[in-house]
Parts: sequence; structure tokens; C-alpha cells
Amino acid sequence: MRRALVTGAAGFIGSHIVDELLDQGWEVCGLDDLSTGDLENLERAHNSDSFTFVRGDVRDRTTVINAIGEADVIFHQAALASVPDSFEDPQAVTTRNCAGTATVMDGAVDRDVESVVIASSAAVYGSGDPLPKKEGQPVEPESPYAASKYYAEKMARQVGGQAGINVAALRYFNVFGPRQDPEGEYAAVIPKFITLLLNGERPVIFGDGEQSRDFVFVKDVVAANLAVATGSCSGVFNVARGESVTINELVEIINEILDMNLEPMYEDPRSGDIRHSCGDISKARKILDYEPSITFENGIKQTINSL
Ligand code: NAD
Repeated sequence: MRRALVTGAAGFIGSHIVDELLDQGWEVCGLDDLSTGDLENLERAHNSDSFTFVRGDVRDRTTVINAIGEADVIFHQAALASVPDSFEDPQAVTTRNCAGTATVMDGAVDRDVESVVIASSAAVYGSGDPLPKKEGQPVEPESPYAASKYYAEKMARQVGGQAGINVAALRYFNVFGPRQDPEGEYAAVIPKFITLLLNGERPVIFGDGEQSRDFVFVKDVVAANLAVATGSCSGVFNVARGESVTINELVEIINEILDMNLEPMYEDPRSGDIRHSCGDISKARKILDYEPSITFENGIKQTINSL
């Protein structure tokens, strides 16, 4: 039986990774300090005998080593995942995301783990051209959050390289799906807009709505994580859909699915917002056999049905 540690297990993405691993017969330990995570996300997992949960901090070495136990693979999702919060409290983002990842790598070396999959972010690329973003192009992190993610992926790969541990950093684009917190500051435009429309309220768009994002459904992100782990892959991979959608199109699609016609309200653009984002997924396609399997509309329907 394969064993895994999932950090950030009670969070949006971590909890979906836990569910899929359990479905595939893995024994799973979930570690989370519940700072932004919610135990409700682990309701399915808690019904499984193959799941244990540890409430603890990834910055604590003893906690991490105990949670790793005999794990073959660590899926490291725990982080402070907010750009605005990272500007407000750079110390918090740096300790959680950088020191947290260092502690996980320390534990991985100590426990002789086979592979570590690091949740990185498209934010490492910054807002400049060219598009779509390719793994080999120069990075330009534009926030303490993005800088922490770049540091974490680089450091983890260096430590893994020295110790003979496979380390893959997955640069997630805009992930969406069930369990995403609609109260979330930035990433959660989809659950936020769905919730507003369901309440008959008009969503607010900052700018002209022609800014675009590469929204990837959470199940595809989980599939990329599993592909890396089962293939014992190392390296940096974009995890995206490879196509972008404008915010105006997003509102149109949600309206259509809900059979509504609520016009958005437009306000001044927010400073620091990226205009366009799109990931090149040819490397993940080639090496991980990764293929986004859920259309954007279908992902939105599944998200609506989960609310
Ligand atoms: P989330 O906030 O739902 O999950 C993060 C989890 O980590 C939470 O459950 C939180 O309680 C836990 N956590 C935070 N600090 C911790 C600590 N010190 N010790 C233990 N647990 C801790 O966020 P998410 O959207 O599921 O993001 C998961 C990962 O994916 C993060 O690393 C994030 O940076 C990355 N990511 C997410 C997106 C996205 O669109 N959601 C995009 C790019 C990258």
C-alpha cells in the first residue's frame, strides 16, 4: 500500500487530493493547522479507516516528522495563499510558505521520502509578456506571496536534488471547484460570483471585465498531483487548462447556467491586478500525460451544484 502525507489537507485543494488518494487505495495522513482550512472539507476522508488527521503546524519539525511517518510521497499544499495578506504581513507569508516548506523538506530527508510534490503558483511569473507562460521563461514574482512560492519551489528542488528525493513543483493557475471559499480575497472570483448571482445580486467587476484568467478545475489539479507522484517525476510544471476566459465571459456563463441575466457592475481597476494569464501546458502533457478533462462550463456546473 502506498502512503502519503498531505499538508494543508483541510484546505480547498488539499482536501480533494486526500479524497482522490483514498479512492485510489492510499493510506493518507492529513496535516493542517486549520488557519484557513475547514474540517468539513475532510468529511468524506474521516469516514475512511485509511485516513488520519493531525492538527499541527508545518513549521514544527517534530510534528512534521511524526506526520510523515512511513509516507512514500508528500503533497505539500499548506501555505498562506493570499496576495493581499502577503503585503499586509510579509513575515507571516514568509514563515508559513518558506520556513514551512523548509521544514517539510527537512522531514522528507529525515524520513527518506521518495517524492515531494510542491504546490507552487503561476504568480511566480509576474504580469509581463510573453503569454502563454512557459516553465523555462524568466520569473518575476511581484508580491511577497509570489516570492515565497518561488523560494519554496527552488529550495525544495535543491534539497531534493542533494538528497535523491524526486521534487516536482506544480505551478497552479487559477484553481476553482467545490469547497473553494467564496469569502477568499482574490482567487475565489468564481464561488464569489456564483454566490452573488444565486442571491440575485449583481457582481462587481474591477476594470472593463476583459482581463482574462486560465481557470483550471480542481479535479484536474488533483490528477496532475497524482501523475507526478505515480510517475516519480521531478521538475517544474504548469498546471492550467491552457485557455483563458475573460471575467465578462465568466459572468455570462454563470448567468446562462443559472438561467439568469444579471448585469455586472463595473468599478475602477485594482492596482496590481494582472491583465491576462494563461499557461502553456505542453510540458505537463508530454511528461505527465496531463490533459484537462473537464470543460470550463462543466466545472462551473459542478461548482454550482456543490453550493
Ligand atoms: P487553502 O487556504 O484552502 O489551503 C491551505 C491550507 O493550508 C489551509 O487548510 C490552511 O489551514 C493550511 N495551512 C496554512 N498554513 C499552515 C501551517 N503553517 N501549518 C499547517 N497547515 C497550514 O488554499 P488552497 O487554494 O487550497 O491552496 C493550496 C495550495 O495551492 C497553496 O500552497 C497555494 O499557495 C497553492 N495555490 C493555490 C491556487 C488557487 O487558485 N487556489 C493557485 C496557485 C497556487
